[in-house]
Amino acid sequence: MSLDPFKIAQEQLANACKIKDISNEVFNALAEPERFVRIRITLKMDNGALKTFTGFRSQYNSARGPMKGGIRWHPEESESLVKALSAWMTWKTACVDIPLGGAKGGIICNPKELSNTEQEKLARDYIRKIADFIGPQIDVPAPDVYTNPQIMAWMMDEYETIFRKHSPSVITGKPLPLGGSAGRFVSTSKGGNYCIREAAKDMDLNLNGATVAVQGYGNAGSWAARLLHDEYGCKIIAVSDSKGGIYNKNGLNPHKAFEHKVETRSVIGMKGTEDITNEEILELECDVLVPAALENVITEKNAQNIKAKIVAELANGPTTPRADKILFKNGIHVIPDFLCNAGGVTVSYFEMVQGYYRYFWTEREIFEALDRVMTNAYNSTKESADQHNVDHRTGAYLISIDRVIEAMKLRGRL
Ligand code: NAD
Repeated sequence: MSLDPFKIAQEQLANACKIKDISNEVFNALAEPERFVRIRITLKMDNGALKTFTGFRSQYNSARGPMKGGIRWHPEESESLVKALSAWMTWKTACVDIPLGGAKGGIICNPKELSNTEQEKLARDYIRKIADFIGPQIDVPAPDVYTNPQIMAWMMDEYETIFRKHSPSVITGKPLPLGGSAGRFVSTSKGGNYCIREAAKDMDLNLNGATVAVQGYGNAGSWAARLLHDEYGCKIIAVSDSKGGIYNKNGLNPHKAFEHKVETRSVIGMKGTEDITNEEILELECDVLVPAALENVITEKNAQNIKAKIVAELANGPTTPRADKILFKNGIHVIPDFLCNAGGVTVSYFEMVQGYYRYFWTEREIFEALDRVMTNAYNSTKESADQHNVDHRTGAYLISIDRVIEAMKLRGRL
């Protein structure tokens, strides 16, 4: 079984199309990006050496609105992964029913080895190379793994310098003083937590005291842990990052874990915890498991050992199709990635709208609107899954592809 992310995305789509009796012609129209841009960036490094990087932008589908998707900087970035992520963005914006399409970008690099100046040059050159293909009404990038608001600020500035006008809605995830949205930083985790809250209600699971394990202690994972702890009374028993994980069956303080990571660059070694591997954390006895790192971590090899009642996929693509079947058979409630982590793109959409109007909402208004969008999307996904007797991922696909196909038909593209 291939772990090629784009093949997995296509297999998921094919599976949903089969249930809906969608023709091969329509499947083919949905199965590849509308446009794929591949670029090369050569930088003069701080030490005077030249280094060349490869970058991508995959524009998957624009039928429902301007395309939208983050930019990932990672050594394992690949054409297949960017295409898969752009497909999932298309299904995600359709699933939560915001008027956007799907895209994704990335650069193969290790930002941990780049100085600030080198990062800025990389960000600016990336935008110079794709400026003709993006824009507030065309395709709007945002942060993803190992990119952040500062990088978005450089990117926006480069775009505005090229086109010689203010254009804040060309990029989201910007710092607040440059037109970022209140709540954007925690939006992915907030949105995922609203879904966990709804799933817990459906399952009669009391979140107060419920045990939670989080793989990946970055933006999405660490905020999910801190908010589940503070707002819902969950007991965080394990968290991890790329170097490994920590565990305490009586619960650990997720704020202290975050501080420890900031100080030492890893959660490992926090007082009062024992070490645990990234593989072990997935198989812990717990109520809620939150994969919040990278793709393909739950596979046919370990799916049988997953003991969590809810798997809330904050990461994109953490579960392979074969693992999905095992989890479904075992009655585990999977909240699929493109529903669970849609809070980020939803608040990005709010950021675009605020950018068009240059009028900003309070954090409270943002979270109320986000809660409505996420709760509706969770309920329609569950209804769709129950109606067709399929897992929640397929249920979400069925809604999303219907919406995208409808928009394409109305435009005369199908
Ligand atoms: P991030 O860069 O802030 O954090 C990533 C975390 O994962 C880091 O703590 C890193 O140490 C850890 N990690 C890396 N490799 C790992 C490994 N092999 N095992 C365990 N941990 C590992 O990134 P993020 O923004 O939090 O994104 C995490 C996931 O969430 C990605 O799949 C991303 O696409 C998805 N996501 C994020 C957002 C968002 O708004 N941040 C939105 C939607 C989806």
